Amino acid sequence: MTLSPNLNNVLTNLDLPKKCFGCKIVYQNIVENFFVRKKSKDGYSSKCKKCEIQKGIEYARTEIGYLTVCYSSIKNRYKNVRYRSLSEKEKEPHRCNITKKEFFELWEEHKKNFGYRCRLTEIKIILERAVDNKKRRFAGYSNAMSVDRLNPLIGYTKENIIFVSNEANKIKSGVTKDICIKVLKLYEEKGL
Ligand SMILES: [Zn+2]
Repeated sequence: MTLSPNLNNVLTNLDLPKKCFGCKIVYQNIVENFFVRKKSKDGYSSKCKKCEIQKGIEYARTEIGYLTVCYSSIKNRYKNVRYRSLSEKEKEPHRCNITKKEFFELWEEHKKNFGYRCRLTEIKIILERAVDNKKRRFAGYSNAMSVDRLNPLIGYTKENIIFVSNEANKIKSGVTKDICIKVLKLYEEKGL
C-alpha cells in the first residue's frame, strides 16, 4: 500500500500544522518553528521559537531570572573554551564553589546591607540585561549588576563574591591586594 503524501506527513510528524500556544499562529513546519521538548506529547514545545525566545528575554529581565542567568554563567565559566587548555589548578580561580541557594542568599544579604548599590562605586545598579544582544555582545548596561571576585586569584566563594556594576568590574578587572597596596603607597610617596 502506498501512503498519500498527506498521511505520510502525519506519520513522520515533520510537516504537521501546529498552533503556537502563545501567539496562536499556525505553523506548517514544526521542526523549523518549535524547539524540541522531549517531555511533551508531540516532542516539541507548546510555544513557537519566537515566543520561547521572547519568554526567555522577559524572564531574564526579572530579578530571579537575572540572578539565575548570573549564577549559571559563573557556574559554567570554567568550562569555557578559553580555559580548556588550562590545568585543574589554573582553572581554580574561575571555579564556582557555592550552590545556587547560597548565591541567592548572598544577594539578599547584599540588598539588606547596601541596597541596589555597587559595592565599589556605590552607584545604583539594575538587574536587567540589554535586549539587543548583538550590539552588546560582550557587556550589558554599564550600571547592570555584575558578580565579581574580590580576590581574582581565587574562585567564586561566599567570602570572595562581591556584587558590583559592570563598569566597576571592568575597571577592577584582575587587580590584586598587592597591587592595591602598591598603588596607595605610590599615592603617598608622590603626595597625590
Ligand atoms: Zn508563538
